Amino acid sequence: MKVQFKDLFIDGQFVPSKSGRTFATTNPATGQHLADLAEAGVEDVDAAVAAARKAFEGGAWPKMHARERGKLLIRIAERLMARADEVATLETLDNGKPIFESRQIDIPSSADVLFYYGGWADKLTGSTLPLTPDAFQFTLREPVGVVGAITPWNFPLLLAVWKIAPALASGCTVVLKPASLTPLSCLAFGDVCREAGLPPGVLNIVPGPGGTAGQRLIEHPGVDKIAFTGSVEVGKRVAAACAPGLKRLTLELGGKSPNVVFADGDLEAAARGALSGIFYGKGEVCAAGSRLLVEASAHDALVQTIAEKAKKMVAGDPLNPKTRLGSLVSEEQRRSVMGYVEKAQAEGATLVAGGHPTAVNGAGAFHEATIFDGVTPEMTIAREEIFGPVLSVLTFRDEAEAAAIGNATVYGLAAGVWTRDVSKAHRMARVLKAGTVWINTYNFYDPALPFGGFKQSGFGRELGAAALEQYTEQKSVWLKL
Ligand code: NAP
Repeated sequence: MKVQFKDLFIDGQFVPSKSGRTFATTNPATGQHLADLAEAGVEDVDAAVAAARKAFEGGAWPKMHARERGKLLIRIAERLMARADEVATLETLDNGKPIFESRQIDIPSSADVLFYYGGWADKLTGSTLPLTPDAFQFTLREPVGVVGAITPWNFPLLLAVWKIAPALASGCTVVLKPASLTPLSCLAFGDVCREAGLPPGVLNIVPGPGGTAGQRLIEHPGVDKIAFTGSVEVGKRVAAACAPGLKRLTLELGGKSPNVVFADGDLEAAARGALSGIFYGKGEVCAAGSRLLVEASAHDALVQTIAEKAKKMVAGDPLNPKTRLGSLVSEEQRRSVMGYVEKAQAEGATLVAGGHPTAVNGAGAFHEATIFDGVTPEMTIAREEIFGPVLSVLTFRDEAEAAAIGNATVYGLAAGVWTRDVSKAHRMARVLKAGTVWINTYNFYDPALPFGGFKQSGFGRELGAAALEQYTEQKSVWLKL
């Protein structure tokens, strides 16, 4: 497939970078060069922020009838679905994820988020407060202004839309800096927005290095809010850069999520949930159930089942609709995963499935579906986010120990619980320190349900009505009668 959109998307137009610099993006499943793209520098980010500021202050967007804004979001969703094959293919080529995931999940889910927030645009209300007879007190809800969105490479379009849709529904304008490894789907989305009739400057897209383009965006005085998804390490840097100007900030960061299986659960379903919890998206998923906590009496049978199934999960060509395990995003990411596998063995964990890099047609950054048993909470693979297809199995004796191990992490993004005991399910849902708890299922999302983290998994929430709070300011008005 020929890559069509290679330039920066600023003020409604595709333009080269001011410096003329470009950078290459490659297909991790083949190592083949996909395209040279315009690389945003500081001056391009400045131009994008200026366009977003103009669209916000003087332009049509925040002043447009709210329902018209909503209709536009819905039109973008419709155009995105009309071009779903094209955008999904770009996503798969750039990221290495199976086309099954891009075409059936990422792109339709992105459209769903746009549909959902399209419906919200004319329902963002303030309130009236009958306090005293001599005054009228009410609140207004206003957009925060220009939003800088910075996103990672694992769900390139979806996580961008998680920010763009509520921001635009609220009347904000956006400058998006996508991850350098995977900018293609976001650039195509710029064209989708243009085609749908989004006014110039409302959304600007500036792929470029985090250290320069990203850094400029977070420090830019013309940006009112940063919405960041990425690693804890960079998240902390973003928070520090936002501090001097006290920019509004939401952070969606990493995870080391516990998937807790009790012996009284449906163990067949739990086995399926354990596997999809870690191997979906090649494990490059912030909410991956990367720690499988199993009650001692169910341990042997469950581990045997999942190890057998994992061995049958063979990596395949991501463009083949039957493939379920794609290529990691880059050779560098695969090296990082291999480092964790070596460390796990050195620290005494038992390898029961996978454990090796692999290739498809002799190429690619593929890695086998890998499971380690006998993992203890202090081991590196139980503590650090691997962001690859590596599952750590730990054992617990009772509910209290399950909760203690589950919470023994600096992260708090998600958790899973498998049990037929409804009271136990509720108790666990309360005690686990995580932004999302799945009971007898794993890895389900809906635009209406808020998503975000406890502890170092970040702060603020995306999706749902909660996200609209993050893109609006409340103003109290006191009118003396
Ligand atoms: P990353 O290295 O933190 O990068 C994320 C984004 O930040 C990229 O666009 C990156 O640009 C940019 N960036 C890097 N340095 C920057 C700086 N100094 N200033 C501003 N921006 C900067 O994360 P990643 O490796 O792409 O993604 C993996 C991480 O994302 C994992 O930790 C994962 O858990 C997390 N994640 C969290 C969620 C969630 O919802 N909680 C969802 C998905 C992923 P470059 O690409 O140019 O480096």
